[in-house]
Amino acid sequence: MLAARQIWQDTKSVLKRSLPEDTYNRWISNIVPVSLVRDELVLGVSDDFFAEWLREHFSYDIGLALREVHGAELRFKFEAGHAPLNLQDEPSAVPDKPQAGPSAASRRDKAVNCRSQHTFENFVVGDGNNFAYSAAVNVSKAPGKSINPLFIYGGTGLGKTHLLQAIANAVTEDDQHSVVYITCEEFLISYIDALQNRKLQDFRNRFRMADLLLIDDIHFLAKKTQIQEEFFNTFNALHNQEKQIVLTSDRPPSEIDGLESRMVSRFASGLTVDIQPLSSETRLAILRKKLEDHPVQISDDVLYFVADRVSSNIRTLEGALVQLTAFASLTGQKINLALAETLLSSLLTVKDNTRLTIDIIQKRVAEYYDLRVADLNGPKRPNNIVIPRMLAMYITRKMTDKSLPEIGEAFGGRGHATVLHAVSRIEGEINSNKSLSQAFNTISRQLQNS
Ligand code: ADP
Ligand code: MG
Repeated sequence: MLAARQIWQDTKSVLKRSLPEDTYNRWISNIVPVSLVRDELVLGVSDDFFAEWLREHFSYDIGLALREVHGAELRFKFEAGHAPLNLQDEPSAVPDKPQAGPSAASRRDKAVNCRSQHTFENFVVGDGNNFAYSAAVNVSKAPGKSINPLFIYGGTGLGKTHLLQAIANAVTEDDQHSVVYITCEEFLISYIDALQNRKLQDFRNRFRMADLLLIDDIHFLAKKTQIQEEFFNTFNALHNQEKQIVLTSDRPPSEIDGLESRMVSRFASGLTVDIQPLSSETRLAILRKKLEDHPVQISDDVLYFVADRVSSNIRTLEGALVQLTAFASLTGQKINLALAETLLSSLLTVKDNTRLTIDIIQKRVAEYYDLRVADLNGPKRPNNIVIPRMLAMYITRKMTDKSLPEIGEAFGGRGHATVLHAVSRIEGEINSNKSLSQAFNTISRQLQNS
């Protein structure tokens, strides 16, 4: 036991240095050493779900740290049923009665999670989004009464979150309903917190007392069976009481990997609508709308150019507009077409590059450093590979829409925390480290032209 405790103590110190602080506090600090038997370290956690999550996301980092401490490979496994350390204010019993509903003031707080600009008035309606828009307005006028659930799906930056929050803002205004807006990732994190702190009942009450439950990016449930189960129960409890549920996703329910078929059919039991990429006329209308109250004005030919050349992603479109207006107000120069082209050149090519894949990025980085792609993805961590691998992760994060877990997966099945760490490390060094910034510039230029 002493050996296990000592090894884990030292391993934790290594992990504390290598992981972001909040990641460490949330996931690692509560693990307890249980035993070391025949070269296998048993690590105790509160429950199976926590164990599964750690296995999936932190095996690589923990393995590496253990190796550093132990001097050789050391097998380890997680075991559920061990109370986490440092539990403060552990409740003696779980309340089984739901508490009173949220006050009007806290209801208003809920919509604070949403951006106040995300309203129906600020949403420009066009060909690709009018169906989703009408459905969302309909839901906000009669929550739980007509379309339930409403499932909105579509590509990144096409306005899903905007519409979802517009429902929240519209409904909160009338102060009659309690609205809960949350991203699926936050839902998952508060579930885990609730498990760890034995506040599952509070967690359930929070969601099950909502009149409207709006969950953003539900595709995050893919392959996460236990949270799917929890969500399914919440969903049913609300749906049975005719409470409104609205979900968004980057793909239709049937294409969410590993989503159980009973959930697919539940999700699709109301109305499923998609948002298609918008025409350049609608994109132009969005640009005009964003400039309505802006002190800087941009000529029409430049706006046409931006609407036409920037991708279908409205977020990128807004980014382009911010660059132009910021430049104009800082320098006092009028933006003409040539200037716009120069100012936006990186944005047009870099962020618009939807064809760019992780494979291509890995290949370019490997070529630059004279390595094999397999080295970047491999388990080893010799010094000459660490930086190229981190840089490749950083470039992937900057130049594609891939999520942290997707990037980790593509780099030899590493956890999202490793990617986060790589991105912040490169970010911190890139301006002061000349060879690194040179590598970044050369590789990203090649990728833009590929
Ligand atoms: P998604 O959730 O689909 O990735 P968002 O809702 O976050 O996309 O939209 C990205 C940005 O584009 C937001 O700032 C949003 O306000 C803006 N936007 C998207 N669609 C529209 C639209 N039709 N009218 C006005 N702004 C829009
Ligand atoms: Mg979104």
